[in-house]
Amino acid sequence: MIRFSESAPFSPISYSYEIDNILYKKKSQYQEIIVVENPYFGKIMLLDNVVQVTERDEFFYHEMLTHIAMHTHPNPKNIVVIGGGDGGTVREVLRHDCVERVYFIEIDKEVINTAKEYFPTIAGAVDDLRVLIKPMDGALFVKEVKDIDVLIVDSTDIIGFAESLFSDEFFRAVKGCLTKNGIFVTHTESLHFHKKMVIEMQHRLKGIFPIVDLYTTPLATYPGNWWAFAIASLSLNPRVYSRPCVSGTRYYDSEIHGQCFLTKGFYDKLINNRLDW
Ligand code: SAM
Repeated sequence: MIRFSESAPFSPISYSYEIDNILYKKKSQYQEIIVVENPYFGKIMLLDNVVQVTERDEFFYHEMLTHIAMHTHPNPKNIVVIGGGDGGTVREVLRHDCVERVYFIEIDKEVINTAKEYFPTIAGAVDDLRVLIKPMDGALFVKEVKDIDVLIVDSTDIIGFAESLFSDEFFRAVKGCLTKNGIFVTHTESLHFHKKMVIEMQHRLKGIFPIVDLYTTPLATYPGNWWAFAIASLSLNPRVYSRPCVSGTRYYDSEIHGQCFLTKGFYDKLINNRLDW
């Protein structure tokens, strides 16, 4: 048995995992892709030595990234998923029968291929006929698409080629490609370890979108564990779901939708920097 210590950017701690087997290791044009097996988490995908997905806890992240925006919208038909090469977000989007088209914009098609081979329960929906896979930078794609109901960013940490997905230019292009009820959601790292970044992202989005909010989910494997999502909308209040919960989710449901946002009091203190922590 060997041990692996993760080197997650921006994190003040490093998680260490037991590894039973290294199942796959390859350098793609963009990053090093590794698949390992851990006795508790099952298979884990690493990109440049950062944990992306584990078989055991992936559903918390994928359901929460996807279903808040998807259930806020009354009838989302055209969806964009940027990043998300493991396929988990696409799987969750397709639980909504109203969906007609999913533009799946993953810069590194090797990540999708690896997920299809080693993570069939996560990547099993990526070949659905409604999914159009485009291996390109999501920041370029948003400039060429229109009439999107929900746009989801499921990227690696905010460094390297993922940085383009967190610029004001990108946020403005996202706003421009959404329909009048359109919603945008992205992860913004951990509220514990990346508080400054979480707050900054809220302020920058507020400069561009009329409605911006923040919700969280507990995760076992991402450093800081209290994971934050920024959600921005052109007209709909993301705290209010407009449809009953789709079937098949394990964590997300209508009650979670109501509870996952920060209280208004805590949110105000947080984004106005009145919390000494
Ligand atoms: N849930 C994971 C997390 O938070 O660590 C992310 C998983 S998913 C595998 C992340 C994917 O984003 C990677 O496969 C990476 O290639 C992709 N990605 C990063 N930057 C991108 C960009 N600018 N355009 C499209 N895909 C991008």
